Amino acid sequence: MNKAISCACAALAAVLLWSWAACAQRPVFEASELAGSPQEKLPGKLGAPDLTGPQREIPRHAAPPLAPELRGSIRRLETGGRKLVALTFDLCELSDQRAGYDAPLVAVLREFKAPATFFAGGKWMRSHPERAMQLMADPLFEVGSHAWTHGNFGVLGKEAMARQIDWTQAQYELLRDDLTALAGKRGAGYAVKGVRDSIAVFRFPYGRCSAQALEMLASRGVAAVQWDVNMMDAAKTRTSEAIVRDALRLVRPGSIVLGHANGFGHATAEALRSLIPALREKGYEFVTVSALLAAGKPVTAQDCYDSRPGDTAVYDAQFGEGTVHPHRHKP
Ligand SMILES: [Zn+2]
Repeated sequence: MNKAISCACAALAAVLLWSWAACAQRPVFEASELAGSPQEKLPGKLGAPDLTGPQREIPRHAAPPLAPELRGSIRRLETGGRKLVALTFDLCELSDQRAGYDAPLVAVLREFKAPATFFAGGKWMRSHPERAMQLMADPLFEVGSHAWTHGNFGVLGKEAMARQIDWTQAQYELLRDDLTALAGKRGAGYAVKGVRDSIAVFRFPYGRCSAQALEMLASRGVAAVQWDVNMMDAAKTRTSEAIVRDALRLVRPGSIVLGHANGFGHATAEALRSLIPALREKGYEFVTVSALLAAGKPVTAQDCYDSRPGDTAVYDAQFGEGTVHPHRHKP
């Protein structure tokens, strides 16, 4: 090969390598798109209950039934002392009110490169399509299901429970298609290769479930993931100091921590700014729920609860079927 041709080949190779690297690293969303506004955290006005489902109500993907060890309600993981912890944030949305999005909270997780799992309501995903796609596209995060309109699985009948689960799964699939199309258009197809085809983890609203509800999820191959550490961040009087203090006392290897990212978590973002480095200082590593499930033995219960069996049953009288604002619910 003469010198001119070999130089041209080398230059071409360099250009190809550069463009491959540029493509591989191009994110789907720009930093300006990921940024949020304080207004976004606020819930919308109460309206008439929206009983409509997603554009396509039947999920396309069917996963094999759950393995026996993943059945039941998962409270935490036995990790053999390995200091793994899963931060989880619920994105609850009722049928009669649009919920918010806590952009500063998500920004703290990104700043600290802390993996986390978001349990998103199906209707929340429909009302926040761009935010849902941003969470799906971010390799730090995992998106799970928090039912369609926050249904109470301690009260709902079988068909209503199935709709809460399946509509959310179908909405996720629709957004995954949209995300794939958007990433392709922006030359970032590579960035969404790792996004799951369907949701693998579910969080019961109000911490309420039943044997029938657990079986329904297990038959669909979806794990019911509750928690063993509650930030109690939806209480307006709860300070970030109290959240951090309690979490540092309660978190143990394999813990699953519950918080809110739909605007109902008041001091959550501020608490995370201290909690993440403090837990790392104690030797903890943050992982998504799915990574935690793969790294240990689930500690399960046959019921769902907050800190002791039966303690969430009081919500049945307070919230009924759970899908409308409690002001509207008449027991
Ligand atoms: Zn919720």
